[in-house]
Amino acid sequence: MNRRDFIKNTSAVAGAYAMTDPLILSISRNQEEATWFDRPMRWAQLTLVENDPGRFDPDFWLGYFKRVHADGSTLSAGGIVAYYPTDVPMHHRSNWLGNSDPFGYLLEGCRKMNMSVIARTDPHATWQNVYEAHPDWIAVTAKGEKRRHWANPEMWVTCALGPYNFEFMTEVHKEIMARYQPDGIFSNRWAGHGICYCEHCRKNFREYSGLELPESSNRFNPDYQKYTDWSTGRLRELWLLWDDVIRKKKPSSRFIPNGFPDKVVTGQLSDIVFTDHQARSGYTPPWSNAKVAKELRASIGMKPLGGIFSVGFEEQYRWKDSVQSEAEIRVWVAEGIANGMRPWFTKFSGVLYDRRWLDVVEKIYQTHYRCERYLRNTEPMARVGMVYSEQSRNYGAETWQQRNSDHSSGMYHALTEARIPFEMVNDRLLDSGHLKPFRLLVLPNIATLSDEQCDQLKKYTENGGSIAATFETSLYDRNGKRRSDFGLAGLLGVSYAGGIEGPMQNSYLRLKADPVTRQYHPVLKGLEDAYRIINTVYRVKVKPAAEFPQPVTLIPTYPDLPMEHVYPRIPETETRELYLRESGKGRIAYFPNDIDRSFWQIMSADHGKLIRNTILWALNEEPVVEVKGPGVLDVTVWRQEHSMTVHLVNLTNPMMMKGPFRELLPVSAEVSVKIPEGVKTEDVHLLVSGKKSDIKTETGKISLTIPQIYDHEIIAIDLNT
Ligand SMILES: [Zn+2]
Repeated sequence: MNRRDFIKNTSAVAGAYAMTDPLILSISRNQEEATWFDRPMRWAQLTLVENDPGRFDPDFWLGYFKRVHADGSTLSAGGIVAYYPTDVPMHHRSNWLGNSDPFGYLLEGCRKMNMSVIARTDPHATWQNVYEAHPDWIAVTAKGEKRRHWANPEMWVTCALGPYNFEFMTEVHKEIMARYQPDGIFSNRWAGHGICYCEHCRKNFREYSGLELPESSNRFNPDYQKYTDWSTGRLRELWLLWDDVIRKKKPSSRFIPNGFPDKVVTGQLSDIVFTDHQARSGYTPPWSNAKVAKELRASIGMKPLGGIFSVGFEEQYRWKDSVQSEAEIRVWVAEGIANGMRPWFTKFSGVLYDRRWLDVVEKIYQTHYRCERYLRNTEPMARVGMVYSEQSRNYGAETWQQRNSDHSSGMYHALTEARIPFEMVNDRLLDSGHLKPFRLLVLPNIATLSDEQCDQLKKYTENGGSIAATFETSLYDRNGKRRSDFGLAGLLGVSYAGGIEGPMQNSYLRLKADPVTRQYHPVLKGLEDAYRIINTVYRVKVKPAAEFPQPVTLIPTYPDLPMEHVYPRIPETETRELYLRESGKGRIAYFPNDIDRSFWQIMSADHGKLIRNTILWALNEEPVVEVKGPGVLDVTVWRQEHSMTVHLVNLTNPMMMKGPFRELLPVSAEVSVKIPEGVKTEDVHLLVSGKKSDIKTETGKISLTIPQIYDHEIIAIDLNT
């Protein structure tokens, strides 16, 4: 199955749900109605505040939507506050509503501009009168108290899994659909905030599991794990219920949840998906927006993916009316677009206190509009897939397993710094269809894998795929129970020898040439003059099943104080810290240590080089794109119907790992791009700068120099297919 088939296939899975209702099936096959999802490329969200009606100018907003060429909008409709004259009992009309209908007015205005419109509801909080009339709709704390809203003590937090959502909000959604027929309803904060101990949740969970609700959200507690199974199932029921009432009023319309705890289910149930990862805070790396896009694409395929971004700060103190710097907004959005997301700006309050963001978003959207046909991607062209796990349940309790997510962050960062285009792969989707596009799979401490998943990986390598893995990959089964040996022992060529060493003080990696040929292994490229580099923090003790080359070996820990005693006790060993082997048509690289996590925590350039070289060695083919030049660039490659694009996002920033982008520091780049076999290059454009560049054409390849990249450049290559 190729990627295009995979995309069709994931749509078929989503279609399976529709098949439960023959009416829905026939209509969802109607091309005209089913295709709205793919049409909007630029989204605009206006979240009204209660006192907006009568104070804000809706025509200003409609004019702005037009100016930025937004073709989709999300507008506040109901839930906590109704911005239309609702008749649902207990549905609170804005105190400022009077006889107006701002939702209806904006919706009509958007429709006149041929925009798709999604109605926004938010069910997570409610009012004193609702509390008095339906006390069982309110969430309850572990102490048995009704839960006041954490940010607004006048209000109450609602129970997401009981009648407030299942009955009351269903009526609200029905009314919105009946009166306005929007293209979808998007619910914010619909999934609850921690465990609710209300009478409904207690009873329903008891019926499901025979258990009482767990006292806390301790992820190692089996009762809590049961609870997450139950609550996820309950949310899925709610999704299907709301989707059903919405489709009954308008078959092409959908319920669109703002987030769901299971990405595989998200891929099965959605026709259109939005990520709510609005901006950076603190140490959030700038590629974080890209990672979120890649993780979802692993299960939704090429279904339209919108990236919600805030123009304001996203810090814990929640300055919701703030505006960030232009550079910060541009880099965040560029990362989303370069990774296949369609931009969606969100603004709270129809009355503006700071207007500086308007021009920034306008510039981004106008460039996007101008380049639109090169942004309608049909498939990513990355050849490297990085596996991630949503559910490594019982893993993480041991000291050497702390900060487990640092493995994937470190690997993600290393691949980005190495400018290697890559996609993410969901560990529950390791079938040959999903893995087909990839020549190399990277497993950054994917510790828990079932026998079936291990078999899928073995099959992948038998078909010519390569693997690069680290640390405890496959040492645990799906339930987090340790195996006697790695599930992938045969593939890695080593066995578990019992025990983890670390944290290792003052220990090193010895790098050396082959003793016979005197040649340095390609994994040591750029490190030939380094006799040794720093070690990682932890290592798994393993024993090899065969002979391995020894480019990287262990120099064990020796005293780091007093200074007089700092000398190696054992200057050299034959203990390999990187196992490299050929396997059929593929290659296998295994680091028994936590080089990815250590890289994330220490950011040693030597570790970065060793990871990059090892990935390139295991990939064993010419990269799709090579980018030379200074700075940090995120590189992605895409195919469109009649073209391909290379995105270069400039992440160069002296404060890249902390604090905002203050300014954009332009870098130059020399880029060479492999052209797919059997097609001819017709023309090449630099879409963002609009400048022309001299192109050198070789067989199967083009190369060019880009003198200046500010935040984002897109190389568009027209192909004669
Ligand atoms: Zn409840």
